[in-house]
Amino acid sequence: MDIMYRSTRSKDIRVTASQAILTGLSDDGGLFVPESMPKFDVSLGRLKDMTYQETAYEVMKLFLTDFTEDELKSCIKGAYDSKFDTDIIAPLVKAAEGGTSAEGHSDNTGVQGEDAFYLELFHGKTIAFKDMALSILPYLMTTAAKKNGVKNEIVILTATSGDTGKAALAGFADVPGTSIIVFYPKDGVSPIQKQQMVTEPGKNTMVVGVDGNFDDCQTGVKNIFNNKELAGRMDAKGYQFSSANSINIGRLVPQIVYYVYAYGQLLMRGDLSEGEIMDVVVPTGNFGNILAAYYAKLIGLPIGKLYCASNENKVLFDFFGSGTYDKKREFILTSSPSMDILISSNLERLIYRIAGDDPEKTAGFMKQLTGEGEYTITDEMREQLGSFEGGFATEEDTAEEIKSVYEKTGYVLDPHTAVASYVCRKIASASSVKTVVASTASPYKFTRSVMDAIDKDKYAGMEDFDLVDELNRISGVKIPYAVESIRNADVIHKTVCAVEEMQKVVEDKLGLAK
Ligand SMILES: *Cc1c(COP(=O)(O)O)cnc(C)c1O
Repeated sequence: MDIMYRSTRSKDIRVTASQAILTGLSDDGGLFVPESMPKFDVSLGRLKDMTYQETAYEVMKLFLTDFTEDELKSCIKGAYDSKFDTDIIAPLVKAAEGGTSAEGHSDNTGVQGEDAFYLELFHGKTIAFKDMALSILPYLMTTAAKKNGVKNEIVILTATSGDTGKAALAGFADVPGTSIIVFYPKDGVSPIQKQQMVTEPGKNTMVVGVDGNFDDCQTGVKNIFNNKELAGRMDAKGYQFSSANSINIGRLVPQIVYYVYAYGQLLMRGDLSEGEIMDVVVPTGNFGNILAAYYAKLIGLPIGKLYCASNENKVLFDFFGSGTYDKKREFILTSSPSMDILISSNLERLIYRIAGDDPEKTAGFMKQLTGEGEYTITDEMREQLGSFEGGFATEEDTAEEIKSVYEKTGYVLDPHTAVASYVCRKIASASSVKTVVASTASPYKFTRSVMDAIDKDKYAGMEDFDLVDELNRISGVKIPYAVESIRNADVIHKTVCAVEEMQKVVEDKLGLAK
């Protein structure tokens, strides 16, 4: 059966999966959601024998029903190859004091916890979990363009809180028929994240610093998307926009895969028996990663609790506690910048679902959020949030988590994973259910914060790349190519603009001036 996609904000939009991927955001400003939830049709017991690529096919075919088997398999093959530094793509590391084990993967060391497992999602090209979806999105996008007879050049417009930018650049660099423009908050990303982006050599790429925070960048990009007049001028010049942000269903679907794969790995290790429940803890910003876990649960993976871990921008923690989403608060720059977000876009997909797939209600809440800065869901809707639970870590908690895990075991967490690890220890470990912590970035991406957490006095005066060498020395983990390769790279992208100038930057770049 074909799965069609609807907008979260109006009744009359209905498109195929490939069309949803091509457009990214629906015309009415809504997000695309599957009209019905497919069911996973492989027996759970078989998961333990399946490779990442095989698992990916079995999951993605359920959602991307207008892609042929050959098309999907060729996208998967192109995406999940030696770009990843381990052939199992997403290793699951057993967390136990004094040592760890990771089947088929030897260079992991110990982490603490009772029954926690770290699902390492940072073995791709840009060492953050964004690679899991952005390695395949360009393949899905170009296949979708062919399928739909698109002649225009596809201009990928992306707002980044630090990691999506480089992962999208790496995916789309020099891909024929596409170009990509990335906006990042100029003072809101880590030094390594910034260096990764501004040194991007791809000929079809542009990277722009914005004098604002991530929410400003994301809202700016959404406004450009929703500008019909601009879309007309774009089309006349042979361009059309799409999105590499997690609002694109082509990002969400590949993210479901690794939860299913993690379950298979737990079965293989004998840590779970078939059908037994696992919980997940996800360090959350835009609500994309945890929504993928929720979708995994909806298609039939035995997931119990979904713990949503926030940093000090804990708008989601407050929402799960009270039913009120209130973005009217100070935006805090933290050591986990990829979670510095007050408007979590993908929550709209959950709101739509718990509102009984009602686009009018959903549009109403989103209008309130834009107009009044907050909305409150009904009690009836709240009742359906039972499997979600919020938790958060302060800056101090996060640093303490990095330090104590390192001191006990020698394993170094990045600050995002540390937020989730802290929440796992605080709230999730009270139950005996096996818990998977989504481990979203390599510590090498955040060396300054990580080394400060371990010993502030010692490392405060050191340069960023000296810290990289020091991290290598104390952790024994090889310096990833993603970091080594930018050490001496030339800065190519120097453009900085005000929030109001974002559209003009795009117009200038594409030669669209009126
Ligand atoms: C993007 C990101 C997150 C947050 O993921 P969402 O899907 O936006 O909730 C967490 N950690 C890291 C390292 C990230 O790059």
